[in-house]
Amino acid sequence: MKYHDTHFHLDLMANPIDIVRQIEKHEIYTIAVTNSPQVYFYTENITKNSKYIRPALGLHPELVSERYKEIDQFISLLSKTKYIGEVGLDNYNKTPSDYKKQILVFEKIVSSCAAFGDKILTVHSRRAETDLLDIFGNEFPGKVILHWYSGSLKNLERAISLGYYFSINYQMTKSKNGQKIIDRIPINRLLIESDGPFTSLGSKKFTPLMVDSILDGICHSKNDINPKEIKQRILRNFYDLISCK
Ligand SMILES: [Zn+2]
Repeated sequence: MKYHDTHFHLDLMANPIDIVRQIEKHEIYTIAVTNSPQVYFYTENITKNSKYIRPALGLHPELVSERYKEIDQFISLLSKTKYIGEVGLDNYNKTPSDYKKQILVFEKIVSSCAAFGDKILTVHSRRAETDLLDIFGNEFPGKVILHWYSGSLKNLERAISLGYYFSINYQMTKSKNGQKIIDRIPINRLLIESDGPFTSLGSKKFTPLMVDSILDGICHSKNDINPKEIKQRILRNFYDLISCK
């Protein structure tokens, strides 16, 4: 069973080409998220011969206020990839007009992805979980991965009941709130993410090559279940996710 990383900003690392080589060598399935359609091509290009890396088309919520016009390009590129991210909503320290723009853009992203039916989305939801779940509604036909979920337990339960996955990073395994969230998520919904370069281990920026430490952290939070069973299940979840029809 191979490792995976469902949320990694390859293009924002200092040495992306070298990391591509290492991911291939270590056979780690990686969803390489991007923050805007303008930069998608770079990731698509450097991963075109990769067996393990899937480039994802994104429009990061925190870039929407300046890049909202790229939504048209985003929609025109949708047929190129099944993987979508980073997309979502962020209402931490945002002006009402910025957040309103984010909502409009995200509604378009969700309805356009729904029309395809088989998209896999890695989604940012900071301080905006209720609105985000409302926009997806109960009938969204793709797969949703909530990345670095930090919202209420009530919304967590709602997302679990909708069949969503949750990608866990190292920082979550080290925080009290993160551990509480991990403890509530059924093991068949857990995935792992580095979210590099936005997370680090000591002075080292996180990469897919370091995700085994996250699995150990998850086992620590779920100490009532056998660690071997947890690890096998989490690694299998990725295969279930990508083989969805
Ligand atoms: Zn991210």
